[in-house]
Amino acid sequence: MDQASLFIAAGICAVALALTILSAWFSNRSDVFLVGWTAGMLMLATGVLTYELLPPDNMAVVAFAFGIQVFGYVIVYVAGRNFTGHKTPRRLIVGLSALCLPVVVPVLAGYDGVGIAIYNFIAAGMLGATGAHYWRARAEAPSAIAAMTAIYMFAAFSFVLCGAVLLQQEQWVLHAPPENWAEHINAIACIAGITGIGALSLGLNNLRAARRHREEARTDPLTGLLNRRALFAMMGQQPLQPGSAVIIFDLDRFKAINDRYGHAAGDEVLRSFSAVVRSNLREGDIAARTGGEEFVLVLHNAAGQLATGTADRIRALFALNPIFTPSGKISATASAGVAFATRANESFDNVLLRADESLYRAKDNGRDRVVTEASSQETGTQAVA
Ligand code: GH3
Ligand code: MG
Ligand code: MG
Repeated sequence: MDQASLFIAAGICAVALALTILSAWFSNRSDVFLVGWTAGMLMLATGVLTYELLPPDNMAVVAFAFGIQVFGYVIVYVAGRNFTGHKTPRRLIVGLSALCLPVVVPVLAGYDGVGIAIYNFIAAGMLGATGAHYWRARAEAPSAIAAMTAIYMFAAFSFVLCGAVLLQQEQWVLHAPPENWAEHINAIACIAGITGIGALSLGLNNLRAARRHREEARTDPLTGLLNRRALFAMMGQQPLQPGSAVIIFDLDRFKAINDRYGHAAGDEVLRSFSAVVRSNLREGDIAARTGGEEFVLVLHNAAGQLATGTADRIRALFALNPIFTPSGKISATASAGVAFATRANESFDNVLLRADESLYRAKDNGRDRVVTEASSQETGTQAVA
């Protein structure tokens, strides 16, 4: 196949990919990097098709075709950084965009071979930087990202070859698209790159969306803790061993707080309680919001005073620190029941039921306290007083 047809095919691939990515963006508009990919791909396609279809001896056409491709690579790089959660400083974007100057200026001066050689090295650099950036984020999807990095690097290498051949042949003035073996490899690398990277990027994006939906389905939106369904699903597969503890917290007279300060302030109290819980958990501890103002913690290897101590620390910190809301300063308390697994592979439901009985006693005995089932031991301000 002749070289011009290959590059036109690459341009059409890029347009098709841009439109596919744009349609993915329509279904999730928060993923702004999809807009970046679309814009970058359209710029690359515009540049390639302009150069292949318009007169290549018109230096304004050539300058536009290659200048816009430099912008395209910059946008694809910035979108790649955005995808991996890195903001790109404005200075860097301006600096990279200025890379179109060493391409456009020689072309406008009539030296299109010089401008295109420089363009090849800049394209290689941008593709290499984009590939390297993905490589650093490979933990998210190792095989897909490794494949993507390999394609970026192969494409970058093919641009280096193109630049090197132009330099070696000392073709400073071309007035026609360069024709050599490196350009052939480059055209094929572009088609493979656009389709391969496009498919992998969309796959990665779908993988991430599926992961996000799974995460959302497991999470209580108000507090960010696990929700009831996720807790029971997790604990259903994981019976408890001696030394594991289940703690149930229930906020005290929460209905009165809602009635007095309003529902929004009540929500603030729930968030504040969950923050106290979160800051008192160890690695591997589990915390869920299982009902309106009810929370369940599962602590492994927490025999003896550890579980009761943790529960009482959470209770005390929550009681001591008032919550400042637009409706006023709210002092709230919570009661807790603690129960331990006493035999191997004891079901979570069993231990939870006993923790719940302890919680009832904590409420009965005056609230703002922790009751542990084994010894009917009680801790709390009012219990101590
Ligand atoms: P006790 O000390 O006996 O636990 O009394 P209580 O008032 O906390 O218990 P009750 O079960 O009567 O009231 C729980 C209240 O929690 C009732 C409900 O309006 C409120 N609630 C449930 N879910 C939410 C929520 O998401 N946000 C807010 N603000 N309130 C909620
Ligand atoms: Mg309750
Ligand atoms: Mg309550």
